Amino acid sequence: MHYCQRCEPAVVLEPAAAVAVCSRCGWTEPARREPLYVVTGASGSGKTAIFAPLAAALPECVVFDVDWLIDPLQHNGSVDWDAFRDAWLSVAHGIAQGGRSTVLLGPLMPEQLADLPSRRWIGPAHFAVLDCTDEQRRARLQARPSWREHAVGEHLAFAAHLRRTIGTVLHTGTDTPDQTARQVAAWVRRTAARRDDHATPLSASSSS
Ligand SMILES: [Zn+2]
Repeated sequence: MHYCQRCEPAVVLEPAAAVAVCSRCGWTEPARREPLYVVTGASGSGKTAIFAPLAAALPECVVFDVDWLIDPLQHNGSVDWDAFRDAWLSVAHGIAQGGRSTVLLGPLMPEQLADLPSRRWIGPAHFAVLDCTDEQRRARLQARPSWREHAVGEHLAFAAHLRRTIGTVLHTGTDTPDQTARQVAAWVRRTAARRDDHATPLSASSSS
């Protein structure tokens, strides 16, 4: 991703504060790192439904539905999922150069990002899970067109796993997509504000 523009042969740069540095010659180039916000959830959580209202509610971030890279990265009917997730981290790093954070809507788990090559080029990754009751999820999945996946049992099990393992659970139950988007936007802003508190130790910190 970041290569030294002076050294031969190519040297991969290392992240250091807001730059990328060559460990051989000391060359640096800008490489800001901003937090990544992941809105995860099993199928039927409402991730796709909130895309447009969330993008409108969070103009200070860039919001994506991760499914958008499935078609471009598909070869002979299969996807290299690590490459797919790493591509999203690269996109987030690029967006950070303009000072903005990225919000990804997709069924991701923290451990799937931890060891990816581009992970070190982004800041902290914050996760929230969209959740609803099993009955609501079943009804939403059954209302989908037939070309979409209908493995209801698997989706319910994945939802239960996320509910257990992700600290921030946002309930979408009977909310409209607009209401859920506002809930997610509030979580992003709350989390970003906490980080700014930590970044400026001299400011009066109000512990929550
Ligand atoms: Zn160098």
